[in-house]
Amino acid sequence: MADLSWYGAPEGVDVGTVFATRQEAMSARVHRVLQAGIVGSRDNGAESIVVSGGYEDDEDYGDVIIYTGHGGNDRSTGRQIKDQSFDTYGNAALVTSVLTGAPVRVVRGRSRHSPTAPTAGYRYDGLYRAEHWWSETGKSGFKVCRFRLVSTAVDYAMPPALSVSSMNPEMHPAMHPAIIVSTPAGTAVPVRVSTVVQRVVRSGAVVEYVKKLHDHTCQMCCTRLSILGRGYSEGAHIRAIGRPHDGPDTTDNVLCLCPNCHVMFDNGAITVTDDFLVQRDDVNDSPLRLVAKHEIDPRFLAYHRAIHR
Ligand SMILES: [Zn+2]
Repeated sequence: MADLSWYGAPEGVDVGTVFATRQEAMSARVHRVLQAGIVGSRDNGAESIVVSGGYEDDEDYGDVIIYTGHGGNDRSTGRQIKDQSFDTYGNAALVTSVLTGAPVRVVRGRSRHSPTAPTAGYRYDGLYRAEHWWSETGKSGFKVCRFRLVSTAVDYAMPPALSVSSMNPEMHPAMHPAIIVSTPAGTAVPVRVSTVVQRVVRSGAVVEYVKKLHDHTCQMCCTRLSILGRGYSEGAHIRAIGRPHDGPDTTDNVLCLCPNCHVMFDNGAITVTDDFLVQRDDVNDSPLRLVAKHEIDPRFLAYHRAIHR
């Protein structure tokens, strides 16, 4: 059985603790290997990552990290010399973390390029949520695997009116179906249940307007969910807002989707052509549902296809 005790906050280590060496960080169970930047597996998700400026494409904004996966770089220069793959164990682990919502420990190493990095050693900077994954062409012209990680301190600070989070009621961060080999005991009378934010569904005036135009009918599968007479749908930004995609919060960049199609679309399992055909594996193309007053800009669809190629 997979040992899940390695996931989540390390016991007895405060956020901000600095370790002089990788060996010390390993002994404290913060990052359990000496060399690799990612610890984890495809089945269980990523336990921890080290952000150390080892990849030329990494971008570190503090609470938000645009992290480059591993593989394909020259260890001495950090330059990419071939394509990265989402099948490589660490990149596969981070994709699983996006899907499970399980938090990932972040350790920052000394870096000349980053003002958020420690001046010496390795600092444990707490738990981050892997929010999104995609591929792009890196500075060296090769494909790189990219991940957006957001500090869980930011997640929980988000105003409730702006987020609807599906909370995983189970305690453990690594509750991926692939690793559930026995039924968790659970808690009959939970006093305090630790939870994981699995998905953050953002809302706002633009999203609400688009959802009303479609009367909550999914533009991809035409499902209309009804809860006690109220329609339920989610607004999906085609070109994601926020760093590094910086898509606009405008109606021509938003789709009205059911939760199933939303998850598939966000993770690239559904794409839409410039002719508004919905494409998914093993299913014939179908037209995107369109209504008057809601024009969609094909440039955003092209961007979405490009990063999930
Ligand atoms: Zn749908």
